[in-house]
Amino acid sequence: MDTRISGTTGLLGVIGSPIRHSGSPLMYNFCFDYYGLDYVYLAFECNEDQVNETLDAIRRLQMRGANVTMPCKQAVAKQMDRLSKAARYVGAVNTIVNDQGVLTGHMTDGLGVIGDLKDHGKTIEGKDVILLGAGGAAGAIMVQCALDGARSVTVFNRGEAGLSKARAIGERMREEQVKCRMEYHLLREEEKLYQAISQGDILINATSVGMRPMSEGQSLIQNKDVFHENLVVYDVIYNPPVTKLMQDALEGGCRKENVIGGKGMLLWQGAAAFQLYTGLEMPVKQLKEFLEKREEGKEK
Ligand code: NAD
Repeated sequence: MDTRISGTTGLLGVIGSPIRHSGSPLMYNFCFDYYGLDYVYLAFECNEDQVNETLDAIRRLQMRGANVTMPCKQAVAKQMDRLSKAARYVGAVNTIVNDQGVLTGHMTDGLGVIGDLKDHGKTIEGKDVILLGAGGAAGAIMVQCALDGARSVTVFNRGEAGLSKARAIGERMREEQVKCRMEYHLLREEEKLYQAISQGDILINATSVGMRPMSEGQSLIQNKDVFHENLVVYDVIYNPPVTKLMQDALEGGCRKENVIGGKGMLLWQGAAAFQLYTGLEMPVKQLKEFLEKREEGKEK
């Protein structure tokens, strides 16, 4: 039994469905233990039509906050008292902070990629970013790149519907003076795609293409010649750890340290949320060591 928990212990959690597989409780509870913070973090099953009563419970139980995952991110955004810029542009929330009953919704998924890039010594300021996809993850990444000073973001998506949504978000940012050049193209505009990559700084795959088991071994970039020495390639996919896109980028001439898989994204979006909850930096180095040891233990 955990003797750390007492009558004063504050509650946080993650809400969504399905939720029982979530790695978040382990991650946050490790960090609370590390700092000796009097909090505990649990996972709560919640579908879209239970969002209102769950938000009432967050207030009623005076929870410090909650992370939000599928399928509740958009429904939660509609019910917040306040929204961060990123959450407002994207129209989705993955982190709720409760300040004496006032709920603020944040979106830290984009910070997950930017934090992980930073952890690998890469910055986003002044960079030309090529973004594959226009779904939930892509929208958050697009907005955060623009807010954090990318020179341009060029979005390529399979269908027109997703592209229109991305364009609408970009338009709102432009109206509010976010200084970033945005372009939107269909993936089948191959010439534009290859030109953007060969002239760009950072290519981010934010689609599910390449993921195990559905599309492992697939990549949206067929022409390895477009990869170049100075290009950073980031794939949000973390299973498998090296995707076809990453393999091709390496074979096409990208430097090893410039080809990064999505394993750190989850960690760094969590680090941003942890800071919002506690005002403290997540002990990322120690957390990584702890998670690696656990993985090794499982493999034995
Ligand atoms: P989503 O369903 O909202 O979007 C999926 C995107 O993939 C869309 O843009 C869609 O057009 C595109 N896509 C799917 N199949 C395609 C194909 N065959 N050709 C071209 N485009 C295709 O999903 P999401 O929430 O944005 O997640 C996208 C991926 O990001 C998932 O694989 C998810 O696991 C991953 N992800 C990783 C992390 C992380 O921490 N590393 C976090 C969030 C999401």
